[in-house]
Amino acid sequence: MPDVDAVVVGTGPAGATAADVLTGAGWSVVMLEKGRNHLLALDPPYAPLGHVSNDEIKFFKRYFLGPDPYLEPRTYRRDENDGDRTYTGEVNNLPSTVGGGGFHADGKLPRFRAIDFRARSELGPIDGADIVDWPVDYDEMEPYYAEAERLVGVAGLAGANPFAEWRSGPYPMPPGADMYGAVLTTAAAERLGFHPYPAPTGVNSIPYDGRPACNNCGFCGHYGCPIDAKGDPVAPLRNALRTGRCEVRPEAFAERVLLDARGRQARGVRYLAINGEAREV
Ligand code: SF4
Repeated sequence: MPDVDAVVVGTGPAGATAADVLTGAGWSVVMLEKGRNHLLALDPPYAPLGHVSNDEIKFFKRYFLGPDPYLEPRTYRRDENDGDRTYTGEVNNLPSTVGGGGFHADGKLPRFRAIDFRARSELGPIDGADIVDWPVDYDEMEPYYAEAERLVGVAGLAGANPFAEWRSGPYPMPPGADMYGAVLTTAAAERLGFHPYPAPTGVNSIPYDGRPACNNCGFCGHYGCPIDAKGDPVAPLRNALRTGRCEVRPEAFAERVLLDARGRQARGVRYLAINGEAREV
């Protein structure tokens, strides 16, 4: 018998959304996450753990969200002529933690424009670049954008960006307060003929989905939110956990996808647990 109906590798925005949808459909899910858990208590009532603080040393110098380049260095090379690597250390460091890259993102969530789905036919092709048009267009995606904005909780002002595509409804929340720098630069940009507007942001401007409004502490990008006012990926993770059908296993390094005897279908995942023990689910 299988342990669960589905294994999700990674607890970032994509994995959290998949777990939310699957558990909502009645599936049982195990989520494997390479990083530590600083985000949510994994048992009810799934409150923030209180690990997050406005601390630049902790986040930037001590790699609170990992990976720590001293313990887990990454390598870089431009091509095979460089040999194995030209550099070892911190390369494009993305958080390795429950919540993934969404944990430290400042949550700007614009939609693609119609032209973005047809970049090759409208703007390309480009020599040496393997670019194709998307197999879907904006009109087809619009209901999914609306659903994702509702799920995450996006604050914004419909119609404020004259270049944005049509929307089937307003943003779930009004925009939050402008930063002082934005107040100053808005007037300057308008004098130059630009169209500044409040960027759609996955941050609560008012209480939403059981989470408080942002208090404008200013430590969004590169930090986690101490009060869970950022929705992405807290919202879908909480939803999945609340069903009782989702188990998150932090500090579990997914090593390989296991295939069935014909080598055609995934039947599980092998991972290294925190004690280095190899396990399968
Ligand atoms: S309180 Fe607001 S500004 Fe501070 S981290 Fe949270 S969402 Fe960002």
